[in-house]
Amino acid sequence: MTTPSSIITDIDFDRDGKQVTTLNLPHSPHEDAWGVMPIPIAVIKNGTGPTVLMEGGNHGDEYEGPIILGEIIRDLDPAEIQGRLIIIPAINTPAVVAGRRTSPIDGLNFNRCFPGDPRGTMTQQIVHYVHDILFPLSDAFLDLHSGGSSLDILPSAIVEPSGDAGLMQKNLAAVSAFGAPYTVVLNNLGETRTSTASAVRAGLITVGTELGRGGTVSLDALEIGRRGVRNVLSHLGVMELAATPQSTVGQRRVVRVPDAAGYVYAPAAGVFEPFHEKDTAVTQGEPAGRVHFLDDPARLPVAAYYKCSGRLYARRQPGRVEPGNCVAVVVVDHEPQEDH
Ligand code: CA
Repeated sequence: MTTPSSIITDIDFDRDGKQVTTLNLPHSPHEDAWGVMPIPIAVIKNGTGPTVLMEGGNHGDEYEGPIILGEIIRDLDPAEIQGRLIIIPAINTPAVVAGRRTSPIDGLNFNRCFPGDPRGTMTQQIVHYVHDILFPLSDAFLDLHSGGSSLDILPSAIVEPSGDAGLMQKNLAAVSAFGAPYTVVLNNLGETRTSTASAVRAGLITVGTELGRGGTVSLDALEIGRRGVRNVLSHLGVMELAATPQSTVGQRRVVRVPDAAGYVYAPAAGVFEPFHEKDTAVTQGEPAGRVHFLDDPARLPVAAYYKCSGRLYARRQPGRVEPGNCVAVVVVDHEPQEDH
């Protein structure tokens, strides 16, 4: 017996057609004793077919996903699909409005709060709704992330690993169908509280992305994302494409972040000078860059080193670093298991 959600909505998940409305989460701050936080949601349904839950704004400073999902809400005719789309472009609305990774209301990272709590903080209550109400309605889940303010990242589609070989194979196929330049297997160092880890545990076909960079709207990533979402909906049998699914680039690779060895952290506080552009081949033991001490010019810079050989997938966006800030992420080739 699960605790009911605190969210109030007039949405009818069973009705054919297009509904655009809000999830209303009771919110009682100083300025508004009996108010609600409206979270935009759309349901587009036509007949029978798979249900695909599509989420943007998990982190509020990642803009391509919310833009793409807004376009779909405005432009998609229900007759173009067979099945049901549940679309939430700005799931952590307070963070999206603030343009911040974390919620300004409770300071929480939405993507470290699964499975949520219906009696918890705002973020925990929204997460609970996704986990307990929306996941059980869904066959597949698209969680559209970008690099956010702190990362400059190669546009990519993300596979959350599953111990279930059958589901892993389905997820690899769905994520590959996205058609991003890189398909990346990534589990956030084994983190279990993310939306994709949670969706995989719930048995959903799960597709993640890392589309843009640096808290900006990246035109190349936006185009990859627009095509990618429709490619995945076609792959899932919800939508027919006018043309054959295509990637926006010729070369496509399947890679993975090799757990802790893939991440390089700042060794000191200062300003980080990276030594390589993204998508460069790098070598274990080679310096990834060095931290300069601008207020102590006599002090020698301190280097940070790659812990594995591979390709440079992401770099830190801001120049300033504190010890432990992630300054580089390396990916290695991933050989997907043969499907026999
Ligand atoms: Ca993110």
